[in-house]
Amino acid sequence: MNSYLEAFSNAFMGSLNWTWKSVLGQVPWFQNYFWGIILISLIVWGIELAFPWRKNQAIIRKDFWLDLFYLFFNFFPFSIAISGFYELFTLFFKNLTIPLNQIALIDLASFPKWAQLLLFFVVLDFVQWFTHILLHKYPFLWKFHKVHHSVKEMGFAAHMRYHWMENILYKPFKVFAIMILGGFEPQQAFLVHFITITIGHLNHANIKLTWGIFKYLFNNPVMHLYHHAKTIPSGKVGVNFAISLSIWDYLFKTSYIPEESGKVSLGFPKDETFPKSFWKQQLYGFKKD
Ligand SMILES: [Zn+2]
Ligand SMILES: [Zn+2]
Repeated sequence: MNSYLEAFSNAFMGSLNWTWKSVLGQVPWFQNYFWGIILISLIVWGIELAFPWRKNQAIIRKDFWLDLFYLFFNFFPFSIAISGFYELFTLFFKNLTIPLNQIALIDLASFPKWAQLLLFFVVLDFVQWFTHILLHKYPFLWKFHKVHHSVKEMGFAAHMRYHWMENILYKPFKVFAIMILGGFEPQQAFLVHFITITIGHLNHANIKLTWGIFKYLFNNPVMHLYHHAKTIPSGKVGVNFAISLSIWDYLFKTSYIPEESGKVSLGFPKDETFPKSFWKQQLYGFKKD
């Protein structure tokens, strides 16, 4: 029991310390998520302002500050608070009687570095695509995911408007993905994390970007805008569930892009009654209907 307590406090303190050192610029630049996310946000915002898709959208759009608050909350205080629990979770899996390498389908360590990263990216993206569908399909999960879908005007920071429970819901699937890949994250995983943050920011940005023929491979702002559309095709729980790669939606026939004006109305039915403030949005998912 003591070893669990120790692991918990070590992870928590380690994460707090790491974040503080990041703010002070005392960690390697390529692992500095604090300044990294600020830089990515400024670049994507700059592109939005220079080449806006919806020309009459305000620079400080609806809920801009709320979304910026979410961006910092989900990245820093929350991730420090949860780090101890994540460590316990990983330890618990490690202490199970099944050695991790027995469920590994692929031994990532035997691949060259670039292939390790690529596999890590593709497998992790797939499990997140799948988890995202579950968030739409099951009402008790949808209540938490509604926070992300309460965006009415789209801009880069909307990427990070999501309930902290989503991190927890995605976590077991991500751990499972890492386990089938041999039980460890590649050393350069930070590269994958920065790429996914950038793609996620772009997906929500007010830019008309489709990647041309590569739209079948990469998610993009046009495709993701329809994920946020208020009205979805009847009989479906949602469309365009892609995170970074759009290929899963094309393969499994969940893609839907009827037009590209960028003027579609966003949200979900009866979203007028959805709480507007951060704290009320935090409580919404836990309340009974
Ligand atoms: Zn969604
Ligand atoms: Zn989104």
